[in-house]
Amino acid sequence: MTGSVRAVVMTGPGRPLEHRRFSSPRPEPGGAVLETVASEVCGTDVHLHHGHLPGVPYPIIPGHVSVGRVLETNGPVRDVDGRTIEPGRLVTFYDVFGICGSCWHCLVAKAGTRCPHRRVYGITTSADEGLLGGWAERIEIKPGVRLLPLPDGLTAEDFMGGGCGAPTGFHAVERAGIALGDTVVVQGSGPVGLSALAFASLAGALRVFVVGAPAARLEAARRLGAEDTLDVAVARPEERVAWVRARTEGRGADVVIEASGNPAAVAEGLEMVRDAGRYVVVGQYTDAGDVTINPHRHINRRHATVLGCWGYEYTHLVRATLLLARHRARFAWSSLVTREYALADAGRALADMEALAVVKALIRP
Ligand SMILES: [Zn+2]
Ligand SMILES: [Zn+2]
Repeated sequence: MTGSVRAVVMTGPGRPLEHRRFSSPRPEPGGAVLETVASEVCGTDVHLHHGHLPGVPYPIIPGHVSVGRVLETNGPVRDVDGRTIEPGRLVTFYDVFGICGSCWHCLVAKAGTRCPHRRVYGITTSADEGLLGGWAERIEIKPGVRLLPLPDGLTAEDFMGGGCGAPTGFHAVERAGIALGDTVVVQGSGPVGLSALAFASLAGALRVFVVGAPAARLEAARRLGAEDTLDVAVARPEERVAWVRARTEGRGADVVIEASGNPAAVAEGLEMVRDAGRYVVVGQYTDAGDVTINPHRHINRRHATVLGCWGYEYTHLVRATLLLARHRARFAWSSLVTREYALADAGRALADMEALAVVKALIRP
């Protein structure tokens, strides 16, 4: 079949992935078409496959954060500095679009990530609308979607080693307001937790401890500079709290960032925060259930600041990407990519991600 491109389609929760052909896309005015270089497989894709997220317009082409080469634009497409992005350029893009800038959430609350018109490539875009996910040979960049050329020296593998975890972890660190010399605990050693660890270090943390699993991810955490790590599989919750307190003169950490996705981690993490410390919840991306906390002990008497963190804005993507490039040698982001899969093996990639057999998995169409 000529003039067609291959894509992987998730038709519904629990259904096998399908391999479909789409006609070769042409850009809309102000839009572009990318030749996909790499797209990520992340925990979100596992959740999508289980139907854990509401409002997903199946069938979808998964893959929300991707790198591609510009094949074609329809009219000039510019970066945020006003420079024209030419065909051949290696780019990523802000996977969120449709933030309206004129609703109550955007204008009054200034909370763009909560804009009800917000849409995300590979998550809230239907395959019936076109190639709006990265598990495909081409990606359609709709008019208004912000392209971001990769900074000089940053390879596709480096960028994808951070993947969506980089701007998400960056946002969580920003929310945490880390001060020079703070002691930080990160709960969870997936891409968001590992990114939070790296950015917390860059933000001036004295030391960052990581509580997570499995061993390969904790090893990655130590490589990224974690002061010490604890495997959740070998220590009970009260032992994990004691482990943190033993390393903080019994007081607890200045900042704890939850990036685990397990609701039980929240009650546990609040026990790890020092009096008047900060707690940021970024890992509870899907509704995994309720948990009991003690408002008196965990929050009120502790004088704690507890913050949620939803998604990321364009500013986080840009600044995180510049830091990925600047500190490429120190963190070796590409080493986080433990396995690459062809489009035909997307099902295996999902299964490996679910089993935590990989730190970061890429689809290479
Ligand atoms: Zn809005
Ligand atoms: Zn993701």
